[in-house]
Amino acid sequence: AARSAGPQSVRAADAGLNQLAYGRLRLEEDLRRALDQNELEVHFQPQIALKPGVVSGAEALVRWRHPIRGLVPPTEFVTLAEECGLVEQLGRFVLAEASRVCAGWTARGMPLRVAVNVSTLQFRNPRFGESALEIIRAAGADPSRIELEITESAAMGDPEHAARELAPLKAAGVRIAIDDFGTGYSNLATLTQLPFDVLKIDRAFVLDALNAPAARVVVGTVIGMADNLGVETVAEGVETEEQLDFVVSHGCTYAQGYLFGRPMSADAFEAWYANRLVAELRALADRAAPG
Ligand code: C2E
Ligand code: MG
Ligand code: MG
Ligand code: MG
Repeated sequence: AARSAGPQSVRAADAGLNQLAYGRLRLEEDLRRALDQNELEVHFQPQIALKPGVVSGAEALVRWRHPIRGLVPPTEFVTLAEECGLVEQLGRFVLAEASRVCAGWTARGMPLRVAVNVSTLQFRNPRFGESALEIIRAAGADPSRIELEITESAAMGDPEHAARELAPLKAAGVRIAIDDFGTGYSNLATLTQLPFDVLKIDRAFVLDALNAPAARVVVGTVIGMADNLGVETVAEGVETEEQLDFVVSHGCTYAQGYLFGRPMSADAFEAWYANRLVAELRALADRAAPG
């Protein structure tokens, strides 16, 4: 049995590889079609300003409404888009759509910011800053309501490029966030020279904050450093009251996570926001007239 297992498992591995290659090629064609036929959607996850405890905005997160596979998360296609030269188109779509929704919210009296993810490859474009600003303006959004999330590694890969591309955005009022902070290996001296407004503390640290002393130290240190630099912080992936208490007690500025809300379609977000406003007002009234 052991003898025949050899060639057989080689054949099995071969078939597996072929299937993988075929699957990938199909997926690539699928993604091209998805971009052309508007199968991509942008969902919005609430962000809460912790001091007053009010909704400050939302992070825009892309999803693929695949005709067969259903709603596909970005972890399954953003890298693919990068690899087959589609990430530029994807990034433009998400920024345009997020800006359009943001402009609508502003027009309807919802004073919210929208944060948009930028892929490393997209950020490398020598005209990144200029073209992002064009997209935001063309969609009618107020640039000061848009926040661009650059990962730590993208920002640090070429700090001079980063400074050059971020300058016009900053000048127009766009906010810059460093995403997944703590997962890269930043040269802090270089990082602090970049014009960013907010550090997003990676979910992994928030998750471990209550049981792993090391993660607790990271969260506390990042918030302390941000305070000293005069920038704000977002705790990602807050799922429990305990995690919320922890980041609040450390003076974190904003939180985002399933405890408040999952990423939702723009319509669902608006309904969620209306309910939340009612609850906030009720809490205010209770505080004003207790009992
Ligand atoms: P990210 O930018 O760090 O986004 C946060 C991710 O954490 C989102 O996953 C969000 O749904 C998830 N999350 C939020 N709160 C919680 C929580 O309480 N618990 C848990 N377990 N997860 C939570 P999502 O939407 O699957 O996105 C994954 C990543 O894909 C994002 O990480 C971002 O790097 C990337 N991505 C998403 N949308 C875009 C996009 O439009 N463009 C690019 N380039 N990348 C995107
Ligand atoms: Mg993000
Ligand atoms: Mg993040
Ligand atoms: Mg993250």
